Order: sequence, then C-alpha cells, then structure tokens
Amino acid sequence: MATDCLFCRIVAGDLPCSEVASSENTLAFRDINPAMPTHVLVVPKVHVPDASHLRAEHAEMLAELFETARQVAGQEDLADRGYRLVFNVGADSGNTIGHLHLHVLGGRTMGWPPG
Ligand code: 5GP
Ligand code: ZN
Repeated sequence: MATDCLFCRIVAGDLPCSEVASSENTLAFRDINPAMPTHVLVVPKVHVPDASHLRAEHAEMLAELFETARQVAGQEDLADRGYRLVFNVGADSGNTIGHLHLHVLGGRTMGWPPG
C-alpha cells in the first residue's frame, strides 16, 4: 500500500467511502463528484498507478476488476440499458488520481466521442 495514495487509504479503511461492491482483490465505491446519475469507481486493492502500468502478472486482478464492474452494473440496473467503462491515463484524459480505477458510468444517454 502507498500511504500517500488516496485510494490505497480508502482500500485500507483509513478514509471513508460509499461502498457498492467488493471482491477479494477489488473494491467498488461511489465517485465523490459524480459525472453521471450512476458513477462508480472500481479499484484494485493493490496499488497500480494507471492502465499503462498493467502487465501480464495483473491478468487475474484485471479479470476480477471487470467482474466487479459487471456486478455493479447489475446492482445499479444498468445491465439492460447500457453503460460506459473508462480508464483515464495521463494529463490529456483528465486523470487526477494515481491509483488505477475503472469508471462505471450510466443512467442517461451518452454522446460519442466524449468531449
Ligand atoms: P480520474 O479523473 O483520475 O480518472 O478520476 C478520479 C475520480 O475520483 C474523479 O471522478 C473524482 O471525482 C473521484 N474522487 C476524487 N477524490 C475522491 C474521494 O476522496 N472519494 C471518492 N469516492 N472519489 C474521489
Ligand atoms: Zn494506491
């Protein structure tokens, strides 16, 4: 765990979150500043800075991350109507938190490409 990492501290229980789901290696919680009616972040419990740092050794964790995202979509009634999964990487994407997180976004129609 990186003690100076906000999401590591949430995973450790040092900081509160609104938990939506969890699994052995992942945690899903509501975004504090939701961009959509449903906006949940799914994070690995291990510290990975962003998606550009993923390697073959992360395969199992990554599969679990998507499994948790699928569970969140079901719980939030998004499975039938659709939703968006996003990893931001680097400055141009608007990435602000240096701990891998998968955005689960839904609850209204979205445009494409994103602005
Ligand atoms: P990024 O732009 O890095 O892909 O997304 C980071 C997300 O984390 C943003 O949507 C932001 O609202 C959310 N966020 C930042 N700080 C906190 C926090 O302390 N708690 C929660 N639940 N979400 C946070
Ligand atoms: Zn971290």
